[in-house]
Amino acid sequence: MSTLFHIEEEIILKSWDDIINRPDYKSSIKPKKFNFTHISAFYSFKDESARCGLSNCLKEHSRGYLVSTSDENETNLCENCGQKYFDVSFEKQKKIIQDENIIRKQKIQLNKILEQDSIREQVNELKQASKGANWLYYVLTSFCDTYPIELLTALNELATKTDNTTTLSALIENECDRSQREDIEQLQGLSIFTLDIREELIVKILKPLIALEKLANEPDEKPSLTRYCKWANSLDEQFALVEELIEAGQLFFTPFNLERLKSIPLPKSKARLVQSLDWNVNKAAKKASRNN
Ligand SMILES: [Zn+2]
Repeated sequence: MSTLFHIEEEIILKSWDDIINRPDYKSSIKPKKFNFTHISAFYSFKDESARCGLSNCLKEHSRGYLVSTSDENETNLCENCGQKYFDVSFEKQKKIIQDENIIRKQKIQLNKILEQDSIREQVNELKQASKGANWLYYVLTSFCDTYPIELLTALNELATKTDNTTTLSALIENECDRSQREDIEQLQGLSIFTLDIREELIVKILKPLIALEKLANEPDEKPSLTRYCKWANSLDEQFALVEELIEAGQLFFTPFNLERLKSIPLPKSKARLVQSLDWNVNKAAKKASRNN
């Protein structure tokens, strides 16, 4: 299991009793004896029911801080003493603690992802499956290396453009017979020309996971976790997209679908090339299996 983010206790102080009932709370402490190490919470009561924990102050007040002391106990400071020992205003300190609370919630969410190793497993399964992501990557790379750029451009256009105003659609309209037009309409799996399998699976799913594991291992870093939470929230959707893309690849690289490519209008020499190419999906796939 990966290292998890350390989650600090969330301290909510709604009343004076919440402060004095804390197990390590000490009152009337002599400030010269200890250092104050850390502000762990703030409070803001309706009335002046709190009393400053320092023996030389003891001021009754409504808002202040719970602080840790160097002998590992706790006490509370009024705003003035907080200013004196930590050089911070109440509003500023309140904001710092509220921000820490947001980060705590983000860490709790992200720990749930780090606790389970299933994302990495899912990525590996998708990569290594028969006709999975690796297969698609190598087969498509080989296809793009073999076929003329004019055909690839046409496929990209067919995959992205929905209107009928392109040069290609004019060519299809004017130069193709009915069976050619049917072939082009029936082309399947064209989304593999608009989305990149490596980008969708490795860059968008696996790399953020690796970066997140690294962050959890560096507790002193104060990273922004917002984008990782967005990533975590979109994981199911992203995995679904990758699965759709792999299915599109399986549909595209069937023999009868590849046969349909010959109906796409191209300059004559390129059309002859496409007619004569002996590119074989199974040969290209062998490369994928060697790389698995
Ligand atoms: Zn005080």
